[in-house]
Amino acid sequence: MLKELNTNQDWLRKGSDRILIAGPCSAESEQQVMETSAGIAAVNPNAIFRAGVWKPRTRPGLFEGRGEPALQWLADAKSKTGLRLATEVAIPKHVELALKYDIDVLWVGARTTVNPFMVQELAESLKGVDIPVMVKNPIHPDLQLWIGGLERFNKAGISKLAAIHRGFYTFEHSEYRNAPRWELVYELKSLYPALPIICDVSHIAGTTSLLNMVAQQAIDLNLDGLMIETHCDPSVALSDAQQQITPEKLRELLALLIARNPSFTEEVIVNRMSGIRNKIDELDRLLMKTLGDRMELAKEIGELKKEYNVSILQLDRWKEVIENCMQKAEQAGLYKEFVRNIFIQIHDESIRIQSTILTAKKQEVIGH
Ligand code: PEP
Ligand code: MN
Repeated sequence: MLKELNTNQDWLRKGSDRILIAGPCSAESEQQVMETSAGIAAVNPNAIFRAGVWKPRTRPGLFEGRGEPALQWLADAKSKTGLRLATEVAIPKHVELALKYDIDVLWVGARTTVNPFMVQELAESLKGVDIPVMVKNPIHPDLQLWIGGLERFNKAGISKLAAIHRGFYTFEHSEYRNAPRWELVYELKSLYPALPIICDVSHIAGTTSLLNMVAQQAIDLNLDGLMIETHCDPSVALSDAQQQITPEKLRELLALLIARNPSFTEEVIVNRMSGIRNKIDELDRLLMKTLGDRMELAKEIGELKKEYNVSILQLDRWKEVIENCMQKAEQAGLYKEFVRNIFIQIHDESIRIQSTILTAKKQEVIGH
């Protein structure tokens, strides 16, 4: 893994401190591109105008983008509004055409990031070209694959990089179209503090009613930009109609967002914070101690199971533990799902520890 991604952030910021990337899911017609870009330029003249020209659709026969003619509409929109342009590229041919029409920023979609061969081909097609590239997270929550995509471009000489967080596909029911899994964003940020991270609010939300909440969360995490799908008339959009908003709604959404300071500055508050943080550190120490003690007891049980050759998983006991915890969680005012998830992890770890103990027995027998 590259220790440092060589990241130059100058391209990202132009006037405003947090970049806005707005535009339709797909460029559909000249009129739609011109009207939407004019509306966005009126909201924020420093925005980057996004539009998909080649659309990676799940099923064949759906609208797959207008291709090269749409690049001309984008170029016209740029000369009219002065907005910079961004589009998705998935194969070297797309790169060649995007460069031909002077697209300013390229992005790699979630369905491309999953495939290192494709990413490598794209990176190689950009050797010697000085253009910003934004890499969306892969569809599934694999941080290494996401980082790998960024590294491939970096190794090909691209230093103007950004990551786009667009959420992750999940089988479980979720209120989001793509679960945000913010903890992965934290992890990426802590591994590469200089790498700009942009939140693709629309593909996480999947519906206009969640846009504001997701955008605010991105700001609360101090991410570097927001990507919001914007269409002059979302009701007739040919892709992602249910998550797009008009430029006017975009203006309202942005106005409602609450800016946050990156850190505490006033001394009194800093002191109060460190008092609270000390208490948290102490509780964390106790939590670790308690977990350690609990696992020691799990080991003792493992030894007993080994001695009497009893299976590890005792369903009735597990049910009792989880029901007991659910009750206590309620009394303690804790969110039940949160406690359930923690106990599933704790139980998994007990089973792992006990399996090692019982496997040791098997090996002894085999050894004899
Ligand atoms: C898009 O940005 O319209 C798109 C197709 O996104 P993703 O690759 O995140 O699905
Ligand atoms: Mn889309």
